[in-house]
Amino acid sequence: MTLSTDHLEADVLRSADGSTLQVRAADPAHLAPFEGETRADGDQHLLIGPLSSANAAALREAFEVLRPRPIGATRTSVGTGDRLGLATAGQARAFREQGAGLAPVLAQQSIREMDRLGREALSVLDEATFGCLEEGWDGGYGADCDHIKTTEGIDRGLAAGFVTFTLDPGDHVVDVTGGITEAQLAEVPWDALGDDLDALRARYVGTVLDLGTRQIEITREAIDTAAVKYGAAVAETVRLHRHLRSSARHEVEAEIAVDETAWLTTFVEHHYMAGELARLGVDWFSFAPRYVDGFEKGLDFLGDEDELRENLTAHHAISRLHGGYKISLHSGSDKFSIYPLAVEATQGHVHLKTSGTSYLCALEVLARHDPELLALIWDISRAAYARSRASYQVSAHEDRTPETLDGVDLAALIAAPDSRQILHVGYGDSLTATDADGTLIGERLRTVLEAHHAEYTEVLAAHIGRHLAPFAAAAQERTVAEGIGVA
Ligand SMILES: [Zn+2]
Repeated sequence: MTLSTDHLEADVLRSADGSTLQVRAADPAHLAPFEGETRADGDQHLLIGPLSSANAAALREAFEVLRPRPIGATRTSVGTGDRLGLATAGQARAFREQGAGLAPVLAQQSIREMDRLGREALSVLDEATFGCLEEGWDGGYGADCDHIKTTEGIDRGLAAGFVTFTLDPGDHVVDVTGGITEAQLAEVPWDALGDDLDALRARYVGTVLDLGTRQIEITREAIDTAAVKYGAAVAETVRLHRHLRSSARHEVEAEIAVDETAWLTTFVEHHYMAGELARLGVDWFSFAPRYVDGFEKGLDFLGDEDELRENLTAHHAISRLHGGYKISLHSGSDKFSIYPLAVEATQGHVHLKTSGTSYLCALEVLARHDPELLALIWDISRAAYARSRASYQVSAHEDRTPETLDGVDLAALIAAPDSRQILHVGYGDSLTATDADGTLIGERLRTVLEAHHAEYTEVLAAHIGRHLAPFAAAAQERTVAEGIGVA
């Protein structure tokens, strides 16, 4: 498929020998920003070039629809990460086929994953650019530099042209499970918060948090606990946000995420964070609290659905009290059983993030074409899992999975909960390892996917589409009910 402007027509071609960019123009001057070989082609000029960063930048310059844009607080949205840089076409097709009305975020990767894979922020954006072009996707897309913990992370995302910045102050959240002490209250960074304990209590104690279905009267103990637990996280968010706002030379937006912490975010704590962040001048379009347990990598939701419904309904109600941002659901891959309730509980004011599931789609394709490489990835993933199981929120156990893959149904292996989770968390160790010949496994996997790219795109379109359909249904209803413009 192609995209065209008044002056240009462009496409990406994939093959086992690699991928190329093709750009056609009547006037060769329009090909000047691109690098590659140019030749006459009928009455046109055809440039064939590499999928280089220079060419991605030239494409974004030429095609408005290839420039990342803000996701915004209004439209129901879904982000799809891509660890290999070859999934965007399939993900875009999923949005075309099953994601009507949704805002897609097709470039999305955390700083941690980039570092783990040795990937530059710019290459994440470039590969999404090429993938959109390959699929002829003109519906626009967001670019989310995910889980940023430092100003340096913000700088990297800004330099690459990311628009959405997920600020993660999770390392500053304090464990209050054993209760709080006077010393901890004194350690809250009051100066950075422009606040003191008495003023905080005066603002909150005795006020009522109205969740619609029920009211919570805020006690001194609850607000003190919120300040100890999240006060430093609020201060850190303010610091990151100020850096983002003062450094950005293009339009940017922020999500606030504390989902990767060990302790549930209570409703009063969410209300406290939102209230304090707003008081300190922070704005954000979506917020990811730490929900009830049950969100595990690569598996359907394992917790209590009623508890989650109540949880999401209340977090959504709090977001409405603070101006109406979206509730963000991270680790959203393969949580099919809870999508309808998540949509219902938030009335579609929700942002879903998936990532690892596109990598598992890649392994499905690999199983059909290079089972030997899949066996190598399995060995590495299984061994890495056995070593580091304790550090993840995971329930798989390697003892329940095959040690070797001789005679094993590979599609069933990728689908079964224990082995699926092991493969899901084993991506970093696998992709960065080398085989017996010293070739990077990530490179070998990419080669297989480029050779079978149409198939990979099909697998992704179907599987990501299953994620999108329940959200798209809500997006369309809301579009009608609230008159939201669909770009
Ligand atoms: Zn997250």
